[in-house]
Amino acid sequence: MKRYDYLIVGAGLFGATFASEATKRGKSCLVIDKRNHIGGNIYCESIEGINVHKYGAHIFHTSNKEVWDYVNQFCEFNNYINSPVAIYKDELYNLPFNMNTFSKMWGIKKPSEAKAIISEQIKELNITEPKNLEEQALSLVGRDVYEKLIKGYTEKQWQRKCADLPSFIIKRLPLRFTYDNNYFNDRYQGIPIGGYNQIIEKMLKGSDVLLNTDYFEFIKENEGIAIKTVFTGQIDAFYDYRLGVLEYRSVRFETETLDEENHQGNAVVNYTEAEVPYTRIIEHKHFEFGTQPKTVISREYSSEWKIGDEPYYPINNERNNTLYEEYKALADKEQNVIFGGRLGQYKYYDMDKVIISALEAVKKEFDK
Ligand code: FAD
Ligand code: UDP
Repeated sequence: MKRYDYLIVGAGLFGATFASEATKRGKSCLVIDKRNHIGGNIYCESIEGINVHKYGAHIFHTSNKEVWDYVNQFCEFNNYINSPVAIYKDELYNLPFNMNTFSKMWGIKKPSEAKAIISEQIKELNITEPKNLEEQALSLVGRDVYEKLIKGYTEKQWQRKCADLPSFIIKRLPLRFTYDNNYFNDRYQGIPIGGYNQIIEKMLKGSDVLLNTDYFEFIKENEGIAIKTVFTGQIDAFYDYRLGVLEYRSVRFETETLDEENHQGNAVVNYTEAEVPYTRIIEHKHFEFGTQPKTVISREYSSEWKIGDEPYYPINNERNNTLYEEYKALADKEQNVIFGGRLGQYKYYDMDKVIISALEAVKKEFDK
């Protein structure tokens, strides 16, 4: 077999960005993935002419102009703005937490009224430095919003008590005292017109690609196939879990095609009460303002992860972060392996952060 400059493990966004930049610099790349398709978690499957986000809803958003310009060379983005709604029992609220949410919750109109209610609800809690997600959420939005819109959803999603989760998870969500339902604060946002696959396809032009190929099997037969390896799988798996297993949450998707044009009127509807077993329902066509006669929905069930399942969300608690640092110390000693991406760096990265991180790896590698 041919010898390459780089063996890139994982045809997701990190691997594809690296491959694109490396081939641009005249390097030869072999990209392998154990799945039967490219794209990693941003892969879209076409069903009834609708781009179905197979591994969960993906909305591109960033405040980094360089990254925005970078992805726009591969596709055109539409003007989708993510504005999920939350259903708690028979009540419907706008997300993220904003004046629409507070107005519906308390029958008020003014920001000062909302702030006064929140202050009243948290005054006896005396939280100065929030130590966990529960304290963080309570101190930001008060007891009512916490009980109805956060507690049930978060505990379903993470299968852990809010008091046992790190506060940064909830800080991902904006909190506003304006009537603005945009889920993100970022300057740039949208969905690629025609789905995400085209980005990865263009990035991988010029690389050889092997699908259905697991690294650990492949490398036994093909040692020395490349000078260097870019590894975007799980860092602990690379080291055969020798220091311990890093934990994840997994997600099970129940996808259904419905013989109706518009099922829920919005791309994302969260179910925030503990009693509903799924966390949210995605209606994929709304990401691209689809007008197809049918619709495709996915119910998302958060599930416990074990080795062999798809790892989705790294659980960045103290135990896992410490263990990751130990693996990273091993990784830092590698001369010929670059670890990257959500799994390789064990980070809760959004797509824009993955691109930034891949471009940093490229810089480090080539601008010596
Ligand atoms: P991945 O996409 O996971 O790619 C890694 C690839 O490596 C996979 O294809 C895997 O099959 C392959 N691989 C692993 N091990 C091996 C092996 N041993 N051999 C061969 N191949 C291997 N980001 C946003 O910006 N906006 C969003 O709205 C958003 N929503 C999300 C929703 C969900 C449910 C999830 C889980 C993530 C979401 N993200 C979102 C994050 C986004 O998915 C990631 O930032 C991005 O896809 C990570 O790219 P990656 O290349 O690091 O990893
Ligand atoms: N969250 C919540 N209620 C909601 C939506 C989100 O409590 O209706 C919390 C929950 O803890 C979740 C976190 O906010 O893990 C981050 O939400 P986000 O939508 O960013 O999650 P992701 O995109 O990672 O699925």
